[in-house]
Amino acid sequence: MRLSRYFLPVLKETPADAQIASHRLMLRAGMIRQQAAGIYSWLPLGYRVLRRIEQIVHEEQQRAGHIPLLMPTLQPADLWQESGRYNAYGPEMLRIRDRHDRDILYGPTNEEMITDIFRSHVSSYKDLPLTLYHIQWKFRDEVRPRFGVMRGREFLMKDGYNFDLTREDALHAYNRHLVSYLRTYERMGLQAIPMRAESGPIGGDDTHEFLVLADTGESGVFYDSEITDLRFGDRDIDYDSVEQCQGVLEEFTSRYARTDDTHDEAVFQEQVPEARRREARGIEVGQIFYFGTKYSEPMGATVATQGGERVPVHMGSHGIGVSRLVGALIEANHDENGIIWPEGVTPFHCGIVNLKQGDAAADGACEDLYKALRAKGLDPLYDDREERAGAKFATMDLIGLPWRITVGPRGLKNGVVELTCRRTGESEEMTPEAAVARVA
Ligand code: ATP
Ligand code: MG
Ligand code: MG
Ligand code: MG
Repeated sequence: MRLSRYFLPVLKETPADAQIASHRLMLRAGMIRQQAAGIYSWLPLGYRVLRRIEQIVHEEQQRAGHIPLLMPTLQPADLWQESGRYNAYGPEMLRIRDRHDRDILYGPTNEEMITDIFRSHVSSYKDLPLTLYHIQWKFRDEVRPRFGVMRGREFLMKDGYNFDLTREDALHAYNRHLVSYLRTYERMGLQAIPMRAESGPIGGDDTHEFLVLADTGESGVFYDSEITDLRFGDRDIDYDSVEQCQGVLEEFTSRYARTDDTHDEAVFQEQVPEARRREARGIEVGQIFYFGTKYSEPMGATVATQGGERVPVHMGSHGIGVSRLVGALIEANHDENGIIWPEGVTPFHCGIVNLKQGDAAADGACEDLYKALRAKGLDPLYDDREERAGAKFATMDLIGLPWRITVGPRGLKNGVVELTCRRTGESEEMTPEAAVARVA
């Protein structure tokens, strides 16, 4: 992309009403625009990051054997009356009436609808196990939408639902989700720690939340410091293997890690040596639930067993806060000059800064770099505007691309450009070819 033809409305001033770094930086970098409280447009740069996160979530869900579909944002109230949640859900639900006086709602989550789909099309144990998921906009009329996309009212979520014959099978699905989530967050360059949590309005028995440690997080967290040394890495997991998934769950959840909802100071002190006890803040970026037959029973989602008996299926639901992750990633990756994108989610792989637009040698070298990077399948952002070098650098630092290649007539006389790493700030001179090889 050439910056002269792009739409990157960066702000010079720091927005006064944005309280936390990620919100300020997303506004300043022209990633989002607020349209109403907790409702945002995703401008091109923000949209690119959102799409990259979505892509990683899709890939990891499908690697785990989960099947994508797409349910609508609007749902009939009837379904929620069947489960008993239409009244129970409270004022967070946006209720709408259509021209025929029918009650509909903007879905805050999809347990009812997916259960309806399941019961309409599946009737035999032979079709199990089954996990369906989608990435779709949700609406929750939060009392206090704040911190930009972190607590929006309209927000993008991946929500997946497993259907299994037995409790054991459903617990395997739970473990499988835990494993796939660990991989998902690590691919984004994020450490999200599974913590024992409380189930809230979804209802259920077993549940873990995934939290990113950050001072601006809304949850208090208590954990054994050893947990932050754990990495999933690139292990090759067989998602069908009960033992392997169970093993990962045990490895990542055996140490004390709880949110303030479930924290038990006595257990904390007993289980964790004082030097390893940590109290901090965290951002919830996902949650997994096992809730058994809570929806399948009232809604009649049953299958015939091998013996011909009809039994309600065991279910769970599993969510990732796709749009919240954009904010969480920035909270975890920024400095005083701007964002520092991890390679896995960066909107562009590298920036090219032309120090002297209009200089034949500099323009030519930038064009060549731009083409060479694209030929490698990379997405460079070329700052080809007639701007001072300082302004170009400030923009690049603000939008946080991992690499910047700076091209000027002086360096070119010696056959070199400058490659700068956004995270370390270190610069090195090298030939354009070497810079392309390093970035790729
Ligand atoms: P919170 O405790 O932050 O209100 P939740 O527990 O109500 O979140 P879940 O029902 O578990 O949310 O939804 C799954 C994920 O969706 C959450 O882990 C979070 O990452 C994301 N999410 C929930 N509410 C919002 C929101 N208002 N804005 C952005 N993301 C959200
Ligand atoms: Mg909530
Ligand atoms: Mg929560
Ligand atoms: Mg939750």
